[in-house]
Amino acid sequence: MTRAIYPGSFDPVTNGHLDIADRAAALFDELIICVYDVPQKHLMFTTKERVELMRKAVTHLQNAQVVPYTGLTIGFAREMNARVIVRGLRMTSDFEREFEMALMNKKLAPDIELVCFMTSLEYQFISSSLLKEACELGGDISNLVPNHVADALVKKFSLAKKKPGQQ
Ligand code: ADP
Repeated sequence: MTRAIYPGSFDPVTNGHLDIADRAAALFDELIICVYDVPQKHLMFTTKERVELMRKAVTHLQNAQVVPYTGLTIGFAREMNARVIVRGLRMTSDFEREFEMALMNKKLAPDIELVCFMTSLEYQFISSSLLKEACELGGDISNLVPNHVADALVKKFSLAKKKPGQQ
């Protein structure tokens, strides 16, 4: 039985992330999608919100669960008894970062393998940061994220635009 973890910030989850989650869940017996609990100042959604948005997005995956995590990814993989770390690769910029992280992780935890999935062509250009920017400027992002995520983004931006004291 092979258990894999799929770590990320998922701020918020996009159709690109979900494509990787679907494909990884089809390949491995169990998939644990783990949402990194990084300092919230750089993030739009809290860890609880990111976990909830992801949980709702993967209800169709019987062998997947979503949990928050903190600290070293390889440490968390060990804690979960997972032998594989899943990541998605878009373009060369992702590759360089993932390659560096993979070498470091291999040094620290030689028993854990990294498996990278190449993005599907239609999701190549989707990133959480770009879609937040597009949404803030009024762009239609409904084809890039699940409906409940699009709703959550619109709600966040409309709350942010309200002046203090406004309902
Ligand atoms: P992190 O901050 O850990 O990079 P992200 O939430 O940005 O977290 O991404 C999580 C993983 O999903 C990373 O491996 C990233 O390369 C991958 N990913 C993000 N967007 C896409 C996409 N459109 N297609 C394929 N993989 C993606």
